[in-house]
Amino acid sequence: MRYRGLVIRPPSEADSYILQVTYGCSHNACTFCPTYKGTRFQARPLEEVREDIAAAGRLMPLTRRVFLADGNALCLPAGRLARILSWLRDAFPRLERAGIYANGRDINEKTRDELRQLAALGLGIVYLGLESGDDEVLRRVRKADGSEEMVQAVVKARECGLRTSVIVLLGLAGKEGSLRHARLSAEAVSRMKPDYLSALTLMVVPGTPLYAQQEKGDFTLPDQRELLQELREFIRCCRVEGCVFRTNHASNYLPLKGILSRDRERLLRCIDEGIQRPQVLRPEYMRGL
Ligand code: SF4
Repeated sequence: MRYRGLVIRPPSEADSYILQVTYGCSHNACTFCPTYKGTRFQARPLEEVREDIAAAGRLMPLTRRVFLADGNALCLPAGRLARILSWLRDAFPRLERAGIYANGRDINEKTRDELRQLAALGLGIVYLGLESGDDEVLRRVRKADGSEEMVQAVVKARECGLRTSVIVLLGLAGKEGSLRHARLSAEAVSRMKPDYLSALTLMVVPGTPLYAQQEKGDFTLPDQRELLQELREFIRCCRVEGCVFRTNHASNYLPLKGILSRDRERLLRCIDEGIQRPQVLRPEYMRGL
């Protein structure tokens, strides 16, 4: 099992076998994202992927979950992904699901039959970074897709039998756009109706274009209290049912877990407590990407 460069995965894939099927992200332009800067996107040679799967199968035959890295591995052609998923099923008889990151267009450009075939072969969950439902913000930070494309992608994935996990990024609209970002993100998520929803909190990383904007005074991150108010507004406005909501990523000040909309009032009370008693929040030095 070989890895190249920085390898990331969602918190819920912490126990999964991580298999790189691409290097980097095919978009690699988001102004806030440091992850694959300096990495040229490429599909990993299939023979290498096959060798790694065979080696992992010998070492960890009881593996139940696999995460296909890197950034948006679902951009690979469906046929190539189908071959990889078939090898995984052969290597891991107890495999329950494979997960993958995707941009909206990776789903929208595949046919429904292709997506259904991938689901049938064990692709169980797709993670998508909506980041914001505000198209002005998405344009500014150079995301690959607008909010409408993201809504279409999540709905299509769900209809084709894939579970969906959507990520929003608190702070991305800066101070001024904070509450609008919260409301429009909630509106987009309410139309998507994902199975899982998580919020991360923006950390402006040196070397990114957003960091340069911040240095020039063109971007101001909301302070801790404003970020919690943004999170509060987002949850208050979300209209989803049976959606697992989490803020368990290390970038967040306040780890929350609940089912929306069932637990909305409890989550709002937790946030209010965090706003009133900042000593209960995760200290700055313990935050991470
Ligand atoms: S699409 Fe995702 S991985 Fe790629 S640059 Fe944007 S945030 Fe980073």
